[in-house]
Amino acid sequence: MLIFKDKKNIRADNQVYIKPEYLIHPYISGNKYRKLKYNLLEAKKRKHNTLLTFGGAFSNHIAAVAFAGKEYGFKTIGIIRGEELFFKIESNPTLSFAKSCGMVFKFISRDQYKLKSHDDFCDSLKSEFGDFYLIPEGGTNALAVKGCEEILTKDDQCFDFICCSIGTGGTISGLINSALPHQKIIGFPALKGDFLQEEIAKFVTNKNWELITDYHFRGYAKVDDELIAFINQFKDLHTIPLDPIYTGKMMYGIYDLIEKGYFPKGSKILAIHTGGLQGIEGMNQRLKQQNKSLIV
Ligand SMILES: *Cc1c(COP(=O)(O)O)cnc(C)c1O
Repeated sequence: MLIFKDKKNIRADNQVYIKPEYLIHPYISGNKYRKLKYNLLEAKKRKHNTLLTFGGAFSNHIAAVAFAGKEYGFKTIGIIRGEELFFKIESNPTLSFAKSCGMVFKFISRDQYKLKSHDDFCDSLKSEFGDFYLIPEGGTNALAVKGCEEILTKDDQCFDFICCSIGTGGTISGLINSALPHQKIIGFPALKGDFLQEEIAKFVTNKNWELITDYHFRGYAKVDDELIAFINQFKDLHTIPLDPIYTGKMMYGIYDLIEKGYFPKGSKILAIHTGGLQGIEGMNQRLKQQNKSLIV
């Protein structure tokens, strides 16, 4: 879908299209569907009946795994960052949704959470919950990347630039692997930190990609009035909702780069809308507490 045609600006003459991955499934949000697909097949093949994964209070991944478990017949266990959330399940839209899908939670402290990939911790989870198929935080592993290689199709070959938001780097890795040599993949990290370059390099060999690190808005899940206003204006203009954690920041970045003349004249840009809309309600709860304007 074409959303932006910059005819007035002769210098750039850029066009932006959106790939609406958020529409591929009503609950397993955009890229999380792609990332889970081959993991669920693998879990079935290995005859697992339980999925265990990790996430924060408003995690799109937690919501997606919970629903996928319900839909495809797995028990699901969510290891959640923040012990205090135990008392907030009902008021937290993501956790109450996951619970309604049958997900069982274990709440751990932020310090414990940092150690979650250690073997000791995994062993202790096995003795607590029995055997499970482990899906990493954010769902990124080689099978997830394989699933994300299916986002781009033949119809997308005409694009010069393909843009996506980044959390753990799985989605962009799939895009990089499936892009054609004339295409450049631009990633917009939704968080601070420079570990992503290395993460992505684990999954890709192509070199046709770049990270633009200027649009995380001071960190993961942080927002400001300007971002919220942009998201609301965007929806007003195009009737396309953006989420505040990932796609809103990416789209803000794309528009800002166009403004700055980053893309060569006549470039065709494809923005991947990776979903994440379930996170809007939780963000609005927080904005309301701070007396800020909400996402409409
Ligand atoms: C999880 C998520 C991302 C980040 O994907 P990674 O593969 O972790 O980089 C981007 N957008 C949305 C909407 C997400 O939910």
